[in-house]
Amino acid sequence: MSDYVIRGMAGNGQIRAFAASTRDMAEEARRRHNSSPVITAALGRLMTAAAIIGIQCKEESDKLTLKVKGDGPAGALYAVANSRGDVKGFAENPQVLLHARADGKLDVGGAVGKGELTIIRDLGLKEPYVGTCALVNGEIAEDLTYYYALSEQTPTSVSLGVLMNRDNTVAQAGGFMLQLLPGATEEMAAALEQKVLAAPPVTAWLSEGLSAEDILHRLLDDFGLELTEKRDVSFRCDCSREKMEGVLVGLGRRELLDLMLSREAVSVHCDFCNTSYTFTRPELKELFKRNFRSE
Ligand SMILES: [Zn+2]
Repeated sequence: MSDYVIRGMAGNGQIRAFAASTRDMAEEARRRHNSSPVITAALGRLMTAAAIIGIQCKEESDKLTLKVKGDGPAGALYAVANSRGDVKGFAENPQVLLHARADGKLDVGGAVGKGELTIIRDLGLKEPYVGTCALVNGEIAEDLTYYYALSEQTPTSVSLGVLMNRDNTVAQAGGFMLQLLPGATEEMAAALEQKVLAAPPVTAWLSEGLSAEDILHRLLDDFGLELTEKRDVSFRCDCSREKMEGVLVGLGRRELLDLMLSREAVSVHCDFCNTSYTFTRPELKELFKRNFRSE
C-alpha cells in the first residue's frame, strides 16, 4: 500500500478535512537519515503535516516548507512538499537519543524544545507567504493547531502519529487535520470537538487497519463527509548532480578556481536526502571550463 493524502468537505461546506497515510514516507526518511526513533517520529509527523498542507500546491513550481526550530537536541527540522506529492525532510541532528516519556511515548517535544514553527507557502507569487509562531510543546500537532488559530484565525484540529516497530523501523504513520471555516455554527463546533476528543491516537486507528478514508468517515460521517481529492505522496528529493554543479558554479569564478587548485575532490551534500555528490579535480576543471572559460 503506497502513501497518499485525501481531502474532503463536511458540515455543508463548513468543515474542511484532510487525512494521510504515510508509513512508507516516514520509513524512507528513517532509512535515508539513519535516524533515531525519536527523530524518526518527529520527522515523520512533520513530513505528514507537509504532505497534508502541501495538497494546496497545484502548480509545478508550488512548494510548501515547514520548519521547526527549537532549542532541543534535534536542532532544526525541515519538511518540504510540492504539487507532485514529493515530500522530503531532515533533522539537523538525526541521531538524538532520549528516554521515553513517563507515558511510554517517544519524547518528540523534548527533542525539539522551545522555539518557533514557520510555514512558507511558495505558490508562484512574487513573494512567498511566510507565517511564524511560537511552539506550544514541540509535539508538532499541537504546534500546528496553535499556528492556525493564531496566524490564520482558523480553528483547527491536528493529529499526527508515527508508531515504531521493535526493530526501530516505522510500523505506522499518518494523520488528519480538520478545520472549521467561517460560518460554522456553535453547535457544529461543539459536536466536532466531541468527535475529536473521543478519537484515539491516529496510530491506533492505523494499526487497526483503518485507511485514511476510514479515519475521516469515523470522524465526519455524522456531518455528511464528501471526499473531493486524493494525491499519492512519497519521500522524494529533487537534488541531482546537475543541481550541485549549479551550486558550485554559483560560488563564483574565484571560489571555484580556489577549490579546483587546493583540493583533490570536493563533496557537496544534500541534507534533505543525505546524499553526497563528489567532484574530482578533473571534473572541477571541466566544470570551470564550461562555465567560466569565456571570461
Ligand atoms: Zn537530495
